[in-house]
Amino acid sequence: MNRYEDQLQAAARFIRNNDDFLVVSHVSPDGDAIGSTGAVGFLLQLLGKSYTLINEGRTPNKYQMLLGNQPIVDYSLETPSRRFGRVIAVDCADFARIGEVHNAFEPDVKLLNIDHHPTNDLYGNVNLVRPDAAATVEILFDLAQTLEIEWTQPLATSIYAGLLTDTGGFRYSNTTPNVFSIAEKMLRYGAEGAVLAELLLEKMTFPQIQLLREALSTLSFTEDRRIGWIVVSTDLLNRVGAADEDSEGLVNIPRNVEGVEVGLLFKQKDTNAVKVSLRSSGKADVSQIAKRLGGGGHVRAAGCTVEGTLNEVVDRLVEAVSAEL
Ligand code: AMP
Ligand code: MN
Ligand code: MN
Repeated sequence: MNRYEDQLQAAARFIRNNDDFLVVSHVSPDGDAIGSTGAVGFLLQLLGKSYTLINEGRTPNKYQMLLGNQPIVDYSLETPSRRFGRVIAVDCADFARIGEVHNAFEPDVKLLNIDHHPTNDLYGNVNLVRPDAAATVEILFDLAQTLEIEWTQPLATSIYAGLLTDTGGFRYSNTTPNVFSIAEKMLRYGAEGAVLAELLLEKMTFPQIQLLREALSTLSFTEDRRIGWIVVSTDLLNRVGAADEDSEGLVNIPRNVEGVEVGLLFKQKDTNAVKVSLRSSGKADVSQIAKRLGGGGHVRAAGCTVEGTLNEVVDRLVEAVSAEL
């Protein structure tokens, strides 16, 4: 048995031997975060376990249909009246990514950490971490097989959605033969590939297209055009009525320009904090840059939140990235 097999067995034991779980993913959940939260919920449901799903941040509307009959509580709107002793954290590179939801943990909590970020620091009592997985749902597929559950359409849909979004529609370098092999099985179990691609990747809300129009006018490059970036202020977000997730994907625009090594998106959180998304064309390891600034992620896609005004953070990041090129 290899180490990953051991981890799978330990995770399966954690689930089989316990009950009354809290399932949580990272703040401002994305497609893999919601897909993973939902998939663990469906797994627990199939095993007859009781569970509660809580994330900090709302579930974007387009992901609601993945959840079926299981709501995810938004901790920023509703704090639970009780604490949980058994937690399953998915797609969280470190404990801080769980956000405020950790306030709902018992002091002697036992935590299962399931994740695919190379920067994961193994904060769980049980850790199921495979950095070469394209998405956390890819690991959940293996866990479902280990638990010998009967596949259902909602579970297959959640897993397919996480693969689809974290691989950018099966296009990024994390799109391995194993990803296609799982995707193929999920389609057989009822996931609707075309419906999910249109809903999760193609469709834009009206505020989203207005945001794109305005954000493009901020597109800037260093003189050598190896770094490009887009800036989104809170002012702009408010003006067009954009939701948090509407800026998703903007960071690919500078990165996709010929010659650009690193694309950046600066999204203002408040007057003194900026969320930074980093995307690399392959030469620079942006996870290390993000990690040094308190964040993390993958070689080609990483993020962090940095204190300072928009201008300060732009200068700081452009300098930090330039030093790596
Ligand atoms: P984003 O730019 O937010 O889409 O994130 C890109 C990748 O980096 C995703 O895999 C995130 O999970 C990861 N990431 C983003 N922000 C952080 C953070 N503060 N700490 C650790 N990983 C992060
Ligand atoms: Mn994620
Ligand atoms: Mn992920």
